[in-house]
Amino acid sequence: MQKNTKFIVVTGGVLSGLGKGVAAASIGNLLSSSLKVIPMKLDGYLNTDPGTMNPVEHGEVFVLDDGGEVDMDFGHYERFLDTACKREWNLTMGKVYERIREKERRGDYLGRTVQMIPHVTDFVKETFLETAKKEDADVLLIEIGGTVGDIENELYIKAAQQLKKEVGVKNIIYVHLTYVPIPSGVNEQKSKPTQQSVDMLRQRGIQPDIIIGRCKTKLDQKVKEKIALFCDVDERAVFTGKDLPHVYSLPLLFEEQGMVEVISQKLGVEIKPNLGLWKLLIDNLDNQDKQITVAVCGKYTKLEDSYASIKEALLHCSAHTKAKIKLNWVDTTRIESGAESLEERLEGVNAIIIPGGFGSRGTEGKINVVRYARENKIPFLGICLGLQLAVVEYARNVCNLAGAHSTEMDSTIAHPVVDLLPEQKSVKQKGGTMRLGAYKATLAQGSLASRLYHSSEVWERHRHRYEVNPSYHARLQDAGLAFSGMSEDGLLVEFIELENHPYFIATQAHPELKSSLLKPAPLFLGLVNAALTK
Ligand code: GLN
Repeated sequence: MQKNTKFIVVTGGVLSGLGKGVAAASIGNLLSSSLKVIPMKLDGYLNTDPGTMNPVEHGEVFVLDDGGEVDMDFGHYERFLDTACKREWNLTMGKVYERIREKERRGDYLGRTVQMIPHVTDFVKETFLETAKKEDADVLLIEIGGTVGDIENELYIKAAQQLKKEVGVKNIIYVHLTYVPIPSGVNEQKSKPTQQSVDMLRQRGIQPDIIIGRCKTKLDQKVKEKIALFCDVDERAVFTGKDLPHVYSLPLLFEEQGMVEVISQKLGVEIKPNLGLWKLLIDNLDNQDKQITVAVCGKYTKLEDSYASIKEALLHCSAHTKAKIKLNWVDTTRIESGAESLEERLEGVNAIIIPGGFGSRGTEGKINVVRYARENKIPFLGICLGLQLAVVEYARNVCNLAGAHSTEMDSTIAHPVVDLLPEQKSVKQKGGTMRLGAYKATLAQGSLASRLYHSSEVWERHRHRYEVNPSYHARLQDAGLAFSGMSEDGLLVEFIELENHPYFIATQAHPELKSSLLKPAPLFLGLVNAALTK
């Protein structure tokens, strides 16, 4: 028999960047220990997925086990809900229109005029209902991207409004996240933007059941009363979404204010949050007793969101070691151009990360950083491009292969130690064509990698087109570079490491994507522990 799925729709108002994804994930977190919560994110853009977008504009592209390239909010969902998400849970208008066009060409709408309403809205609604059924969801948590009033999200809002009719008033609630500013000079919390944003939502037929006011400080009783009165919600259903030192405290803040009771009453479900271990780890974050500095050397450092999962993975390590981890963002294009000195920028850092990346800008700077870490025995973690450049550095400076490089950066070089994957050579189309998603790696017995994972095999997520060129495997290994993890067929290098170094490891995968507060990524925890020991 089909479950009586409950639906929670989360919208945002006033301005973007208020943390709607984290707020939705935090609600999910409270519900997920007793209920099966399936998150969905609806994005208004016409790209099929964020895979073809610049991370400096859109933030990190998150990759799922199934190879889906999805909105970075899925990082929050996975970290807060402890669930492996699926690509279909991220709708974009690009995907929606593609499906509608397919249906139209097939003749599914024969004789009719295909319109935004009802055809697009019906399609979106059907996707909600089908996903709920397919996943046997207790709760479908739907986050609508952008801010109410954005043209590109209107059809999602409309579909979410119509959903109420379909599933019945007892089975759906609407949560609206707004902004409560404290203008300087006035020095009090202002509710007007919230009132106006709720007005806009109502014009679209949605009356919120819960309002979360993002504010610098806890919402005053007076403001809560005002919002409740003007927006016609229960006073108990107005919550503070306060600025916090880290996002993991948000579920606790919601719980303290009685959100569990409000949701369980409105939806008629029993919710039993299980926050014991979570609280303990947050306690550690609030009581750090030591400090290290980690340099993240990349080229998208202008927007920290480009490396969101790396930041989170390090925070997870902080919670497990009680070490405060200061991040030193090093823009390798500035090292490369000589605008900054590598030695000065890396002075005193306890560990170095080279994250993933694309294109040649900044790579010479990164290669110099690898050399610095290798020679000065600074704990080092290379991720994806970080592995590839560690191989280039080793080939150039240890194997004496002058001119070694990746063909991504220079297709005419003498020693292409990193080259396109064989299956990539004929690929012309850019979107969704990389080696994407979870792959199994076999780890060498006794290797650092196998010790860190406590296992001889591991599944991590990938997103790349290039790999270590098999024609150079022997030369690199003979010169002392250990291939500590290989793909299942033994052909692709997945992990490399060095002996005679306190911690030098790199992987072709992106282990940061599976890190969570409860289970930090082993390669990151290893790095932090090595930095602490040193
Ligand atoms: N640009 C490299 C490749 O495509 C690395 C990609 C990455 O770091 N995610 O193989």
